[in-house]
Amino acid sequence: MEIRHVFVVGAGTMGNGIAQVAATSGYRVTLMDIVPQQLELARAAIAKSVDKLAGKGAITEGQKVAALGIPTTDSLDSLPEADLVIEAASENPELKFKIFHDLDRLARPEAILVSNTSSISITKIAAATQRPENVIGMHFMNPVPLMRLVEVIRGLATSGETVEAVMETCRHMGKEPVESKDSPGFISNRILCPMINEAIFALQEGIGTPEAIDTVMKLGMNHPIGPLALADLVGLDVVLAVMQVLQSDLGEDKYRPAYLLRKMVDAGYLGRKSGRGFFQYSS
Ligand code: NAD
Repeated sequence: MEIRHVFVVGAGTMGNGIAQVAATSGYRVTLMDIVPQQLELARAAIAKSVDKLAGKGAITEGQKVAALGIPTTDSLDSLPEADLVIEAASENPELKFKIFHDLDRLARPEAILVSNTSSISITKIAAATQRPENVIGMHFMNPVPLMRLVEVIRGLATSGETVEAVMETCRHMGKEPVESKDSPGFISNRILCPMINEAIFALQEGIGTPEAIDTVMKLGMNHPIGPLALADLVGLDVVLAVMQVLQSDLGEDKYRPAYLLRKMVDAGYLGRKSGRGFFQYSS
């Protein structure tokens, strides 16, 4: 099946990046969010990103224009025209099950329904639809325009044709797809989020300041970014949601979220997107 129209549900950190990359890869794109202000922020984020990329010669003027022209909407009215629907809404299982129930009702029967979830079972998400063979995970990395990896997650009922179509779409977007089993956190977050959580425990216990913890991991372990700055980039609410899924689905105490992580999310300190996390951000 040829993918022409990509419909992105959720215009937050990931959704706007996915829409941008799909548009610069030549797909027709629609970007949807239920919060109109998020759509405004998404348009601004895309404009800033493509300006930078075009300035560096990483994309052409034509690609920039394509990304700036992405239509945004707060409804699912044009969903029936889509070949590939990518859901990048908040990391909440009940919300995703409801969204997939609606997507299944409105999308063409042959359309592929994708989730960008960081940790929720693709098999469970697929079970909210009548087309589990057409449901799959495409786990893009943040920031989407810069990161090459996409983890592709096959649910129990996902068909080989769906996997092939999505692998091909990743390559067409200039990404490197890697297949992971449908297990909590997949490969990336099974490893990354416990490391970030442990860094938060180290902070909570006063073992080091945020600067010290991040510097140790950058200079000592050659990580390009420290775990606390990375948590701020990912979003502390997303990190907490992933740890909760790891803890409940793998049933092990070692995945318990740090108390400080919960407290910061309760306070609305979500990282870069709220201007404050373990570090402060001006815009
Ligand atoms: P975010 O909080 O930045 O954005 C989520 C968006 O979803 C918000 O704009 C919200 O208004 C919107 N939304 C909520 N309910 C909706 C609905 N019913 N219909 C349409 N839009 C709705 O979150 P994010 O960081 O972009 O994460 C989105 C998804 O991507 C999550 O599943 C997350 O786990 C996953 N993910 C995040 C990262 C990361 O680094 N942040 C990386 C990979 C995957």
